[in-house]
Amino acid sequence: MEMIYMDNAATTRPSEAVTDKVSSVMRDVFGNPSSKYILGVEAEAELKSAKKLIADILKCQEKEIIFTSGATESNNTAILGAVRRNARRGNHIITTALEHPSVREPFLLLEKEGFRVTFLNPDADGHIHPEDLKSALDNETIFVSVMYVHNETGALQDIDALGKVINDYDKDIIFHVDAVQALGKFRFFPAKMNIDLLSASAHKFHGPKGVGFLYVKEGTKLDPFLIGGGQQKNMRSGTENVPGIAGMAEALSNIYTDELTEKQEHLRGLREYFVNALSDMDNVKIFCPDSAKTAPHILCASFKGIKSEVLLHQLEADGVYVSSGSACSSNKPGLSFSLASMGATKEELDSIIRFSFCFDTSKEEIDKVLELLRQHVPVLRQFVRK
Ligand code: PMP
Repeated sequence: MEMIYMDNAATTRPSEAVTDKVSSVMRDVFGNPSSKYILGVEAEAELKSAKKLIADILKCQEKEIIFTSGATESNNTAILGAVRRNARRGNHIITTALEHPSVREPFLLLEKEGFRVTFLNPDADGHIHPEDLKSALDNETIFVSVMYVHNETGALQDIDALGKVINDYDKDIIFHVDAVQALGKFRFFPAKMNIDLLSASAHKFHGPKGVGFLYVKEGTKLDPFLIGGGQQKNMRSGTENVPGIAGMAEALSNIYTDELTEKQEHLRGLREYFVNALSDMDNVKIFCPDSAKTAPHILCASFKGIKSEVLLHQLEADGVYVSSGSACSSNKPGLSFSLASMGATKEELDSIIRFSFCFDTSKEEIDKVLELLRQHVPVLRQFVRK
């Protein structure tokens, strides 16, 4: 039985170029990048070339990239590091009800420390309106964090417009963007969008797990989250994960090529095709159906009356891997703050399936999944009624 992997928002399969890069660097460039002799210099050169590659893709400066262990660390560093460091300028911070726990939890921690937190609510399609952000800003606001692409629904925020609202109100307010589900899917340039801090995780774009980066716009005041040996100019202590970082840069360079636009169109076409086919099925609710306002790789739907895990395991038995909501919150059943904030009912939340694609996903795979859904969904519903 051939496997159909449709859980690319949880993690992606590393490409062969990436596994080759990671293993060759691990084997051949094993020096500590802080060592002064040639082995260290070679390892440092890997870090430098990875940094240059990422900086070229984001059109930023190399010194604006800090390597981390992934987006959880990037988000924690950005939020706790910038808010605490800038606390004397004000005590109001803003985020959204949509955020991943690695953003939400630091905000809740800061709330306990005495900061006033505003959680902006999205509309029913999962979008944050720039006017709502505008009316939440006040002269105590020092920090705003908004995710770029929602990990459960694919909802795409208008980061450009949100960045403009912040910048027009007060240039000193720090704007953080969790771009985990956006990087590797389309082109964007943080400096052009008034973004001060941006988080990314390599395993979401066919790189290795446990490695990522934080973009820190020059001049942004930020305390380090990890302190110790003073690596990365004191901004992130700890010996750098050289093979992981080299693999992350390799993965990005394989995506940001001249073929990207074509690949995006392919994916968008698949999503639209899937949405149309699901719309023809009875009692299926699609979150964020409008492909113009979503990233092309995520599609979330609820199959009324069927518990997510029942359908998930039925599909698994047929070799199809999907997710019941996001993998990060799947150990906390029924917990999707974000979907609830979009007005999803408990019944809908209990029957959610997320399909997430990569550029290699084919129409044949989508057709196979649709065929299985048409076959299983009515049967499982009958079973539930008995
Ligand atoms: N933010 C978003 C939007 C995510 O989807 C994830 C991963 N599910 C993270 C942050 C955390 O990434 P990591 O687990 O790689 O640290």
